[in-house]
Amino acid sequence: MSIQYSIDSTDHIRFINEAWLQFACQNDGGHLNRASVIGKSLWEFIEGEDLRQIYRHIFKAVRMKQQAAVFRFRCDSPVCRRFFQLMVSPLQEDELMFSTHPIREVQRDPVLFLDPDVQRRGPFVTICSWCMKVRLPNQGWVELEETVNYLDSLGTGVLPSLTHGICLECQGNIENELKNLK
Ligand SMILES: [Zn+2]
Repeated sequence: MSIQYSIDSTDHIRFINEAWLQFACQNDGGHLNRASVIGKSLWEFIEGEDLRQIYRHIFKAVRMKQQAAVFRFRCDSPVCRRFFQLMVSPLQEDELMFSTHPIREVQRDPVLFLDPDVQRRGPFVTICSWCMKVRLPNQGWVELEETVNYLDSLGTGVLPSLTHGICLECQGNIENELKNLK
């Protein structure tokens, strides 16, 4: 089942499919519905200048070269590693279609960092929206599963707040994919 949405030439959301809505509900986006999403600027949903910049590059390249670009990304639940493929395709009149397919899921021990019900308090910690590595103070980007030690060192009960960004490796992979478009 593929999760799809499209944006018009001015990056406003034009279409979302049933699978998109279901996925939003399962992932704590239960407040989202068609009426609240259609017509909105996509940029309202993209957090942080690093992420905005990479999306701007993707949109520009796909529109200019009129060729689909394919990316891999990861979007875990607390108990599952989930790998996806995202295809960004050009449609008529500079509309873009985003199609996301699940590739595989791997169960693992729950990762506290992703628990939506846990109490959070500053400082903000950045998680890469594409590979879910986490940027820890003085350690750079580390695998999500390796954040356990860091959390232990903070003591129990309270997690740092999460903000979304993109790591250098993912940035490089995306720029490469865009360069390879003919
Ligand atoms: Zn990354």
